[in-house]
Amino acid sequence: MATPLAREWTGIQTFPVATQNKLVELLGKLKGDNVDTLTILVMGKGGVGKSSTLNSLLGDRFFSVSAFQSEGLRPMMCSRTRADFTLNIIDTPGIVEGGYINEQALDIIKRFLLNKTIDVLLFVERLDAYRVDSLDKQVVKSITETFGKAIWRRSLLVLTHAQLSPPDGLSYEDFFAKRSEAVLRYMRLGAGIRRKEFEANPIPVVLVENSGRCRTNDLGEKILPDGTTWIPNLVKVIVEVVSNGSEPVVVDQQLIDGPNPNNWGKHFIPLILAFQYFFVIKNIRGRIKQDIKNERVPAWELRDMGRADGKF
Ligand code: GDP
Ligand code: MG
Repeated sequence: MATPLAREWTGIQTFPVATQNKLVELLGKLKGDNVDTLTILVMGKGGVGKSSTLNSLLGDRFFSVSAFQSEGLRPMMCSRTRADFTLNIIDTPGIVEGGYINEQALDIIKRFLLNKTIDVLLFVERLDAYRVDSLDKQVVKSITETFGKAIWRRSLLVLTHAQLSPPDGLSYEDFFAKRSEAVLRYMRLGAGIRRKEFEANPIPVVLVENSGRCRTNDLGEKILPDGTTWIPNLVKVIVEVVSNGSEPVVVDQQLIDGPNPNNWGKHFIPLILAFQYFFVIKNIRGRIKQDIKNERVPAWELRDMGRADGKF
């Protein structure tokens, strides 16, 4: 999906040289695999840091960031090129409003994506949140209903606000493990993926710290409390997801108006009913008839029917 309007990705030059080198190497790996375009979609609730994460990735303040939820309904796309490689980044507004899923926002997102191919979905949540409620699961369910279950094979969980001191003397690792486990659990349930299937194809989790106060290493690269240089790490995991053997999600007219992509099994319902009729119901009926034939009628019943002794 080459975008004619794509501008040169100059934001990459705002990164320290060490980060730039790692990014160039990762993008080179993609090009080596004949991938010359990467379209990244971001989704999640409002205020979790979606726009900030994309800006961090671009090295640019392209998307507007707001501490208060005044995002508007329209998705936005930013396309950048570098050495014949095109990066398309699509930001979306949060899909929750007043405690409910905003179906209108979802519909606008879907139409905006028409004829686009989503290579990766970044599902964003905050690391420093402690509660999970039924609405969280609902967000995942709505995304699944919109794009099909297959989107989760192309997704990663991004946890923002990663520079934190865990409460109650928990270690950073324990806190991260507990929080990511809780989010992954509601993602699995919301997407309707069986535990075994989920374990076979786990959704990778990436930590992000968008704050200007994010600590840096000696080379000036932004690091997490555990020392990970998070921008190259985010890109590394994106590249891994793109290369995991799954198909990208093509948003075509059929996906937009067609039946729910998760309900394709419905087409088999008439076949299943026919199978039940011929192999199950007919069989049972045959057996019942046989049973009736073989049944010895008790004497009192014959008498009641007036045939007990043949006098009548
Ligand atoms: P969106 O609604 O999901 O797009 O969220 P925004 O990117 O607009 O961010 C909402 C607020 O959270 C803004 O005030 C951001 O500055 C802040 N924010 C986003 N990510 C982080 C982060 O990783 N750390 C910190 N400390 N603040 C963040
Ligand atoms: Mg935003």
